[in-house]
Amino acid sequence: TQQTLVLIKPDGVKRNLIGEIISRLEAKGYVVADLKKFTPTKDLLHKHYAEHEGKPFFEPLVEFMSSGDVVAIKLEGHRVIEGFRSLAGATDPTVALPGTIRGDLGRDWGLKVQQNLVHGSDSEESAARELALWF
Ligand code: ATP
Repeated sequence: TQQTLVLIKPDGVKRNLIGEIISRLEAKGYVVADLKKFTPTKDLLHKHYAEHEGKPFFEPLVEFMSSGDVVAIKLEGHRVIEGFRSLAGATDPTVALPGTIRGDLGRDWGLKVQQNLVHGSDSEESAARELALWF
């Protein structure tokens, strides 16, 4: 069975949406195989977001992601990588469809980085790489 890395970003933790977000994952039928809550180091975030290094939102993204606790979840289920991304919705919470986590709970705050509540791995390769970094 497939596994993916889900992160509840600092905006989700600060807004007390941990339960709301995990409820949606469990209601869909996915299983929380492991979970932890901590403030990630910049070193971990540089590794995690290596593909975005050099982009204009890279430094604001690392600042934001290290600004407070994150909940890291090892989420399990058949086709969970694709399934979680469907539950999360589009990157930009303004246009993410209602019914999705970002569409229902997120908005654009006009900041340099999109605060969009969650992250999910985008492929089996990313999931393996990211799970090894965070767990
Ligand atoms: P997606 O579901 O679209 O893949 P993602 O979280 O994987 O979402 P990435 O393209 O990997 O998106 O970008 C990582 C994070 O960087 C985003 O979740 C968002 O917080 C931020 N981000 C991405 N693109 C922008 C942008 N153009 N401006 C500001 N922040 C951005």
